[in-house]
Amino acid sequence: MIVKAQEILKRVFGYKAFRPLQKEVIGSVLTGRDTLVVMPTGAGKSICYQIPALMSDRLTIVVSPLISLMKDQVEQLNALGVPAVCLNSSLSRSAIRSARAQVRNGEAKLLYMAPETLLMPATLEFLSLLPVLYLIIDEAHCISEWGHEFRPEYRHLVTVRERFPGAACMALTATATPRVQKDILNCLRLTHADLYIAGFDRRNLFLQIEPKTEPYFQIKEFLDRHPDQPGIVYCYSRKQVDDLTADLAADGYSVRPYHAGLEDVTRKVNQEAFIRDEARIMVATIAFGMGINKSNVRFVIHRDLPKNIESYYQQIGRAGRDGLHADCLLLFSYSDLQKNLYFIRKMSGIERQSAELHLSAMVRFAETGACRRRPLLSYFGEKPDFRQCGMCDNCAMPDRPLDDITVQTQMFLSCVRRTGEKFGVNYIIDVLRGSKSHKVLRFHHDRISTYGVGSAISRRTWQHYAAQLIARGILVQQTDYGSLVLTHRAWRVLRGEEPVMGTQPPDITQVSAIESEILNCDPVLFDMLKCKRRELAEEAEVPAYVIFPDRTLAQMACFYPCTEETLQYIYGVGEVKMENYGSVFLSVIRQYCRENGVLPDQLPKNHRRRGFTTVSKTDQPQTVNASGNRRWGETEI
Ligand code: ADP
Ligand code: ZN
Repeated sequence: MIVKAQEILKRVFGYKAFRPLQKEVIGSVLTGRDTLVVMPTGAGKSICYQIPALMSDRLTIVVSPLISLMKDQVEQLNALGVPAVCLNSSLSRSAIRSARAQVRNGEAKLLYMAPETLLMPATLEFLSLLPVLYLIIDEAHCISEWGHEFRPEYRHLVTVRERFPGAACMALTATATPRVQKDILNCLRLTHADLYIAGFDRRNLFLQIEPKTEPYFQIKEFLDRHPDQPGIVYCYSRKQVDDLTADLAADGYSVRPYHAGLEDVTRKVNQEAFIRDEARIMVATIAFGMGINKSNVRFVIHRDLPKNIESYYQQIGRAGRDGLHADCLLLFSYSDLQKNLYFIRKMSGIERQSAELHLSAMVRFAETGACRRRPLLSYFGEKPDFRQCGMCDNCAMPDRPLDDITVQTQMFLSCVRRTGEKFGVNYIIDVLRGSKSHKVLRFHHDRISTYGVGSAISRRTWQHYAAQLIARGILVQQTDYGSLVLTHRAWRVLRGEEPVMGTQPPDITQVSAIESEILNCDPVLFDMLKCKRRELAEEAEVPAYVIFPDRTLAQMACFYPCTEETLQYIYGVGEVKMENYGSVFLSVIRQYCRENGVLPDQLPKNHRRRGFTTVSKTDQPQTVNASGNRRWGETEI
């Protein structure tokens, strides 16, 4: 049976090999066992039920929390030639009739529904006459109060299980802590389910945290370091989204806002513009993102502190779904922390306890001076088998040379002391750099001896020094407003009894030199292929990635396949896509090869295939760490 599954993977989806755990999950589903699948976003959960659904002539019901999510899935499946439909409140009567008819006559293999639709008596009655083989609960963490997207109606799904006792049930989620997993199993009564937990490590995401000093300036600087790349900037509030969008637009960036306060149509138009690469930057609240399958998001910036690690991980998980390098930047400040605590204090009972726990884990993650992946993975119940991941700010430059920064440290500490140990990092830097800000003048700190002594050193460098002093316990940062206090070590440094060695801030240009691997293909052909894809997408009224993801085009622009025979080896080219789009893309490639004297299926003379090996290698994505991090078998929970 697995051979058949493998054949479908290639023929329908155009993929050569299963990713970690997919084969095992499919194997257990095919034997009719209940399963819980926990895999990070982008790991390829959908295929785990889509392939079994295609192997049977009975019906698979998929519960999905959002209309946009199911619409996207159905569009993508249809583009692969897979008969799938959805039922939800946004459809016209005739669309509902037609979907129902396709389900009734056995044409549609997969039926996507929101829980509300599924739980309606009329729907249940309609389904009761049908041969339901699998019941799939997507985004299953919505069932748990301990999750971060609790949806009460998910709790009632257990009644649907009782209605279809013969149907095997599969619950899928990307963000389950052990506690949430337990909840899912209990609430759905998955007592004998097989449990599959893939590693949460997504190694293509570069994790970076910077102290938030001047968020607008920091964001702009980041955007300029990533020109032409699509990405998302998450903000805490609607107002921040509106303000930031306006500022960026005024500065000439291609940007759209998204939050729950906007009209439905505006939200939809903005989302489409982003998905279809018409707008480069999406500035959004957490309302944005669920159900976004855009695979080439190259960065996610958090302007404000997320409430918990699950949301953070889910949001950064929207970057780099194509397995290529993506950057994640979080701007951290203690006043954001205060804001979050303020709201938490208004809660009570289990809700408050849960929120506090979540937030403190987030802060531990932000404050660590060691590898950031380790606390992240530990949070999800994994034991990291590495000390340094090499893909976070703390690991990226482990061998940076140490300089003597004793004098700078003394300036900093002295300034902290002279301002009364009442202020945070940014204010101290203001004073050191001779700021004429209202606040500095009001406190008369322009009259103290350390005022302006550090003006030759950049703000960024001062921040980097301060972070090291805090990390080493020379300074303590109070959790109230982030004010800095001297420790006994600080006094030793001030008295000249202890030298301080430290690093300089990472060379930003060097970090950004880890460019998107897509840049390593033939850029001219890549652009031509993208144009062609846009034409086709507009014609079919679907997002571009439904035609082909970037990675497919990048591989085409690297290997120059000129025949169907060679094209079929390209990532994402299955039978139906070959039939629908093969000749169109082949003719673009052929013409390009002819006009530029490129030998087909070979390297062009003047384009080196820099780093492309990494791209082709990622067929087994580095994102999922199967070894040691997976567990399966009978659940013991
Ligand atoms: P998830 O639901 O886990 O977030 P998806 O199911 O949307 O992830 O899969 C993410 C992307 O990976 C999709 O574009 C999917 O087609 C692709 N994918 C899934 N399985 C494979 C595979 N075995 N080989 C290559 N690509 C795959
Ligand atoms: Zn690391």
